[in-house]
Amino acid sequence: MEKQSFRRRAGEKLFSHISRDEWNDWRWQLRHRIRTLDHLREMFELPESDREAFQELIETYHMSVTPYYLSLMNRFDVTDPFRLQCVPDLRELQASSRCVDDPLQEERTMPVPDLIHRYPDRCLAMVTSACALYCRHCNRKRRWRNPEKFVSRDGLLRMARYIESRETIREVIISGGDPLMMNLNRLEWFLETIRAIDHVEILRIGTRMPVVLPMKITGDLCALLKKYRPLWIVTQFNHPGEITTEAARACEMLLEHGLPVCNQSVLLRGINDSHAVMKDLLYGLQRISVKPYYLFHCEPVRGTEHFHVDVETGRRIMDDFWGNISGLCIPRYVYDLPGGGGKVPLEACPSKKGL
Ligand code: SF4
Repeated sequence: MEKQSFRRRAGEKLFSHISRDEWNDWRWQLRHRIRTLDHLREMFELPESDREAFQELIETYHMSVTPYYLSLMNRFDVTDPFRLQCVPDLRELQASSRCVDDPLQEERTMPVPDLIHRYPDRCLAMVTSACALYCRHCNRKRRWRNPEKFVSRDGLLRMARYIESRETIREVIISGGDPLMMNLNRLEWFLETIRAIDHVEILRIGTRMPVVLPMKITGDLCALLKKYRPLWIVTQFNHPGEITTEAARACEMLLEHGLPVCNQSVLLRGINDSHAVMKDLLYGLQRISVKPYYLFHCEPVRGTEHFHVDVETGRRIMDDFWGNISGLCIPRYVYDLPGGGGKVPLEACPSKKGL
C-alpha cells in the first residue's frame, strides 16, 4: 500500500471537522469544491490587486478544486505541483502567438456534434464538458468558455447511430470532460447502446476521477462498468504524490472488476519535468498495477503555455529510462501533431548496441 504523504496529513488538519463518512462521500466532495473567487481567495493567498484579473480568468476558464485534491497540497507554496495543476494562474490569460484554442482541430473532425472521428478504427465521444476538477493544462479548455454541458439523450443517440453506420469503428472512447460526472443511469444507457453495436469490440473511458476524486470509484460504479467489458480505463496521474492510498484503492477496485487501467501523463513544467519525479511516478504506477501508456508532450493550447517543456528536456528525461528501468514502466513519449496529423513518438531511438 502507498504511504500517506505528509501533505495528506496536513490537509486533514484543514478538514479535521469533517467526518470520515463525509470525506469519503463523493457527493460531499463535489458539493464542497472550490468554485467561486471568494472561496478561492479564502484558501489561497491571492493579492487583492489581482481580484479583477482573477474574476476575468474564472469567467473565461472554469475552476473547480475538490477538497480531496486540496488536501494533497501545500496551499501557500505557489510552486506546489498539485496547486499548479488546479489553481487558476493569470498567465492563462497571456496572449501567445504560438498557441491556439484547438491545435488538433478536433472541432473540424466531428461528423456529428461532440463525436470526433479521426482514425478509421476508433472514435471519441465527448459526452460532457464537466469535470470534478479543472486541470489548468487541459487541452480542451476552449470548451470551458461555455457553461458545463451534458450531451442530451438525443445527442448521444445521434452519436450511436453514426457509430452504427461506420463498420470500421471497433473502439469507442468515451471522454469529455469527465464521463464519470454523468448521471450513472444515462452513462449506463449509453454504454449499453454502444455495446449493442456488433462491430464495436472495445470501450474505453477517459477519466481523472482516480486522481482527483477517488471516492467516485465505488463498488456500484465498478459493477456497472464491469457489465460492458472489454472496457479500458485511461486515467491521468502526473505526479507521484497523486498516488495516495485512496487513489491506489480506486485503481485496485477497477482492476478487481476486470477493468484494465492505463495512464496518460502530460509533461508539465514544474510538475514532472525532472528525471527523479518522472521515475517515481512511473515506479509508483507500476506498483499499483497501472500501465504507463503515454507521456504527452504539451500541445500549443491557448492558456497553457506556462506549462510547456521543450522537446529536448522531455527526451533527456525519457531516454535515460531505456535500458535502466523496467520496460513495463516506460510510456511512449508522444506528440499529437497540430492540425490533426496524429501521434508521433518523440523519444530518440534506444541504443542499438548488440543488434
Ligand atoms: S479531467 Fe481531463 S478533461 Fe477534465 S480538465 Fe482535466 S484534463 Fe481536462
